[in-house]
Amino acid sequence: MTRLKVLLAVLLCLLPAACASSGEARAFPEGSTMARIRDRGWLLVGIKFDQPMFGYKDPATGRITGFDAEMARLVAKDLTGSERNIRFVETVSRERENFISQQVVDLVIATYSITEARSQLVTFTDPYYYAGQDLLVRAADTRIDGVSDLADKKVCTAKGSTSVERLLGELSRENLAIVDGYSECVPALLAGHVDAISTDDTILLGLQEQHPSALRLVGKPFGKEPYGMGIRKHDTAFRDYLNGLIARWLADGQWDRAYRDTIGVSGATSDQSKPARR
Ligand code: GLU
Repeated sequence: MTRLKVLLAVLLCLLPAACASSGEARAFPEGSTMARIRDRGWLLVGIKFDQPMFGYKDPATGRITGFDAEMARLVAKDLTGSERNIRFVETVSRERENFISQQVVDLVIATYSITEARSQLVTFTDPYYYAGQDLLVRAADTRIDGVSDLADKKVCTAKGSTSVERLLGELSRENLAIVDGYSECVPALLAGHVDAISTDDTILLGLQEQHPSALRLVGKPFGKEPYGMGIRKHDTAFRDYLNGLIARWLADGQWDRAYRDTIGVSGATSDQSKPARR
C-alpha cells in the first residue's frame, strides 16, 4: 500500500460507518465474548472434520469446507473483519459439550441439534438449519426401506448424538455399532459389517456422494433436527449477538449463498432446511 492509501484508510476509520464497511472489526461491549475474540484477533470454532457438505477437512488442501464452515467464516468476518481469522478444531459429537464448557473453543458449529438435555449444559442460538434423521444403505440391498426394517439389522451411528438416542427408541443396543465419527461407518457398511448408517439426512447425503453407485440414501426422514451454534452456558450476550447474525443471513442472501456453495452443489434444495425468517 502506498503511504497515501494508508493515510486514507486511517482517516476513513475515524468515521465508524466507513470503518465497518472497509472491513475493520466492529465495536463490542467491554468484557463481552465478542470483544475478547475481536481483541485476540481470531475465532476458535469446534467443527466436524469428516462430514462432507457440513464440516470436512479436504485431504488435498487441508481447507475446512461445508455449510457449518461457511457459517463459522461469516461469524469470524463480523467479529474480526476477515473470514480468514479463524481456527477450526475437530469436535466429534460426544465432545461438543466438553469443548464448550472447558473453553477449548469459542463456539461449536457441528451439525449440533438443539435439545433440552444439552441445553442444561450449554447455551444454543436459534436454529440456523433443519435436518431429519435418515438411513444410508448399500445400493444393492433392497431389504431396507425405513426404520421398521431394521429389527434384525446392524446400524452404525455416532456416540453422543441424537441419532443414537432416537435409534434406541426403536431398536435394542445390540443392533447398534457406535463409533466416534460417521465416516468410520462407511467402510463398515461397504464391507457388509453393518447394514445401515443412521444420522441426519444431509450428513448421509455427503457420505453417499463419495460412493454414488455403492450407497443409497433411503430418503424417508424421521424426526426433526434443528441445528444451533453451541456456546458457553449463560453467555446470553454472545447468544443474542449470534442470533442477530443468523437472522441477518437468512434475510440478506448469505444463508442462501452458503447453501448454494456447499449442500446445493449436490442438487439438493433448501425448502425443508432453511429456518423461517425472524
Ligand atoms: N444432529 C445430531 C446431533 O447433534 C446428529 C448429528 C451429529 O452427531 O452431529 O446429535
